This record gives sequence, C-alpha cells and structure tokens, in this order.
Amino acid sequence: MQNINGDGGGSRSNKPWTPTFCTIIDAETTSFSYLACSNCERVLPNDSLPNPPTCAVCSNKYTFPTASKRLYRLLLSIAISDKVIPVMCFDRAARVLVGCSADELFNFCKSHPFAEEKMGEILEGEMCQMTLCEPKNGNAQHLRVVSVVPLRAGFRPAIHTLRLLYGVDNSHRSSN
Ligand SMILES: [Zn+2]
Repeated sequence: MQNINGDGGGSRSNKPWTPTFCTIIDAETTSFSYLACSNCERVLPNDSLPNPPTCAVCSNKYTFPTASKRLYRLLLSIAISDKVIPVMCFDRAARVLVGCSADELFNFCKSHPFAEEKMGEILEGEMCQMTLCEPKNGNAQHLRVVSVVPLRAGFRPAIHTLRLLYGVDNSHRSSN
C-alpha cells in the first residue's frame, strides 16, 4: 500500500488534532474522485479523456502500460462546536464513510442517476470523530482528514444505503 498522496517526504510540521466530535453538514459529491496511476498513485490529468491517461513517470520506467484508477478526494463541510470548516477526505478516510472504492462508486453513479446527490444527502448529519491535519501539499488550502470514526450507533457506509435506495443486490461484496 502506498501513501495517499504521491507526494512523499514532506515535512510534518503541524500535529494532527482530533476534536471530540464533528458533524458532516455538507458533502461536495459532484467531483468526489480523481484519476491516479494505479502503480505509483500520482495524479493523472483528466483532460486526456476519453483515452485512458497514462502516467508519464511509469510509462518511462516500465515497458508495460500502467493502468489508472480512481481515488477519493471528497470535500466535506463539518461543524466542530460552533464552527463550520471545509475538510478534504482522501482515499483512506473517504472509504470509511462510503464503504467501497472510488472506482466502484464512480461506476455506481454512472449507472444510477442522482446517486452523487443522494450520497451527499446520506452523509449529511453523520456524526464522526475525525483526526485532522494541515495539508502536506503547499497548494492545498483545506485541512485534511487523516482518519474518521463514525459515532452513530448502527452507522452504515453510504454505499449500503445507496444500494438499498436503488434496489441493487448487495450479494457480491459486502465490506463493512
Ligand atoms: Zn505512475
């Protein structure tokens, strides 16, 4: 398993902090993922679509073509006591809330109209304990979610609720 951001070796200046609890009040689900190289997890340009983008670094290094995959980049607004702040959820944290890979959710949304909006609605109001840190990347302006623990008893990842809503059989894979 690689790091979430392809950008390793940054200086970790600010310590992560964990507020007692926070509430998700909004989820920006219209663009919840980005394409990354499945080998090195570098961000791939989206503008080369419809042809699958290839990783410039890996295609130089290896003779076989490298595939791409989707990783989460989910922007949430969370309320901590009386403040509302935007935070960025990358793959590991977002998977806890959504319950499947970004590729899986992307495909689900492609074949189920308004699934992104529904997912946003499902996540809204969810109470969690989040560990937050300053972004490692200098260009990023939002706090980053390091880890998330849903606090509600009976919490189900969003994909479970989506499958129920759309009447999709859940038999082939249930990761909890
Ligand atoms: Zn690569």
